[in-house]
Amino acid sequence: MSQSAAAPLLSVRNLRVSFALDDGVVRAVDGTSFDVMPGQVLGIVGESGCGKSVTMKAILQLIDRPGRITHGEILFRREGSEVIDLARLPPRGPALREIRGGEIALIPQEPMASFSPVHTVGDQIVEAILLHAHRWHADGRRISRREAREITIGLFRDVGISMPEQRIDAYSWQLSGGLRQRAMIAMALSCRPRLLIADEPTTAIDVTTQAQVLALLHDLKDRYNTAIIFITHDLGVIAQMASYVVVMYLGRVMEQGPVDDIFHAPRHPYTQALLRSMPGLHGRTRVPLPVITGALPHPFNRPLGCPFHPRCPDVMAQCSAATPSLEPVGVEQLASCFLHSDKVDAS
Ligand code: SF4
Repeated sequence: MSQSAAAPLLSVRNLRVSFALDDGVVRAVDGTSFDVMPGQVLGIVGESGCGKSVTMKAILQLIDRPGRITHGEILFRREGSEVIDLARLPPRGPALREIRGGEIALIPQEPMASFSPVHTVGDQIVEAILLHAHRWHADGRRISRREAREITIGLFRDVGISMPEQRIDAYSWQLSGGLRQRAMIAMALSCRPRLLIADEPTTAIDVTTQAQVLALLHDLKDRYNTAIIFITHDLGVIAQMASYVVVMYLGRVMEQGPVDDIFHAPRHPYTQALLRSMPGLHGRTRVPLPVITGALPHPFNRPLGCPFHPRCPDVMAQCSAATPSLEPVGVEQLASCFLHSDKVDAS
């Protein structure tokens, strides 16, 4: 997992999340490990159902019942260098409440549900700033409501909302999808987070606005040195946003590494298949894109051994008998595949 000598901001270690349902247990996240460095954009990519969103919810302990973290650590380096295991904190306790929406903020897929319809967007952001005033003034100085409103107008400007003095008094349902998404980013920034989790933040908006929001997030990362975990099924978005990439399949990390290695020297058959199915790598021809053969297995029918083996073009005898562990395949690149290492994951 080593990406550099610097200490990680977040270190997810062998995380497992299960859902106990009437028909059986679904292992949504099955031994996932990765690090996020300060100021880094980490992209997590995979098909729907690969466990990427559940992993992010686990980080913030936002998993709905009957889901629960059954194993692993989520080590977060707080301001002042104290390292805390988020997986051990009570989900509704004060420590996690302070971190969630404080040092770690989430930009959800659909911002409509995140704003209350009965208060203006501006008032909701002002309240968040007042709640996290210490993150704006390290000397402990209080923030007045008037100052919080000025900060909100500044944030609206930062995220590219025109006429911020008027829009601050709008309700979420009065804003277009693109403006709501920008307001949601302003809300996430209102606590000056050290880690921003963006869960498919451009799914609900049109293509032009998507490009603007991605450029905006990139710019904000540079300006505030905020680390970002960017979750998406879209490799094009990953190429644009991330410096380091984690590829997930059926709740496990298949491969991870610097974005250039993942795009130009992918070592795992699943990453290779994902890249082959990506539009844009085939020029402007009308040749149909290759699809990954087979379907995602039913959650209750998880394959034994390597989870990708029923769909893998390179499958070998041992692939259905044992699960490969995540091993180095380059300077900073790791893959979980028997083509590269015989080591078995015994955890
Ligand atoms: Fe394919 Fe085997 Fe590698 Fe899994 S371990 S990706 S089945 S070659």
